[in-house]
Amino acid sequence: MYSTDVVTDAVLRTKNLNVYYGSNLAVRDVNLDIPEKKAIAFIGPSGCGKSTVLRCFNRMNDLVKSAKIEGKVTFRGQDIYGNSVNPIGLRSRIGMVFQKPNPFPKSIYENIAFGARLNGYIGDMDQLVEESLRKAVLWDDVKGKLKESGLALSGGQQQRLCIARAIAVKPEVVLMDEPCAALDPISTIKIEELIHELKTQYTIVIVTHNMQQASRVSDLTAFYNAEPTPKGGKVGYLVEYDRTEVIFQNPAQESTRDYVSGRFGANYLIFREKVPKFPPDHCHIQYFLSSKRSKSLTQQGF
Ligand code: ADP
Repeated sequence: MYSTDVVTDAVLRTKNLNVYYGSNLAVRDVNLDIPEKKAIAFIGPSGCGKSTVLRCFNRMNDLVKSAKIEGKVTFRGQDIYGNSVNPIGLRSRIGMVFQKPNPFPKSIYENIAFGARLNGYIGDMDQLVEESLRKAVLWDDVKGKLKESGLALSGGQQQRLCIARAIAVKPEVVLMDEPCAALDPISTIKIEELIHELKTQYTIVIVTHNMQQASRVSDLTAFYNAEPTPKGGKVGYLVEYDRTEVIFQNPAQESTRDYVSGRFGANYLIFREKVPKFPPDHCHIQYFLSSKRSKSLTQQGF
């Protein structure tokens, strides 16, 4: 199990993290160190808290009214839930890409420029747009049509546009919540290749239900599971966190071994439930604006 002793260059760290939605404890006791410039995959059955933990890293759970955390999350040693931390500023350092590509209903160019401007970027905007699109391996596809709507692109291109938008504000970490779930296999491979490129410059944390994807893209893998609670609910927890090849070839826990080899036996709780949609509609532009302002812009059809 990776721990503070092993990861000496942790960018993000959780200490005894519990996350509740209302009175329901969704995930408990998560102790996790995320090292710099590596790709870390979160795997495990649905509903065991992977996205919940991911969203704690840049306080996206603040946008869910009922969410409450206990324990600590630190980013470069600083408690990100401390009073002095501005979540909007934090999200420019720890960006996020969602399951469903969500470009702004604006031109390809503006999709990149808008957030950068809000973040106070005063350099050469054309250069930033090109550089971000190149890093997202999208430049060659779109260089002749930067004024066209981002929404006119294919699903895979839209997701790469969202990645370009996230990296344009020069984050240190990029969180990805099932970024390929809505994509076809070819677009999926392109995003995976992109993750390999990106992790030389950024720390990537990716939630994925695709185990081949976890084994292809990540350096470290965290396996989560859920257990029943006395009240008939369930609570997620981190079972094992280690180098990806250890998790897939020689895990310490039997439940990890069963899960990665596709044996869904008694160790699994399969819950069919409706998880509320995230992000809520008004949170399109959540990186850059307070939720009040993003709500008002969304209402204006932004
Ligand atoms: P995973 O990413 O592993 O599928 P989630 O983090 O989405 O799991 O969910 C963990 C638990 O938290 C589930 O029981 C889910 O129903 C609950 N949950 C997730 N998001 C919300 C929310 N916005 N409001 C209430 N409960 C939620």
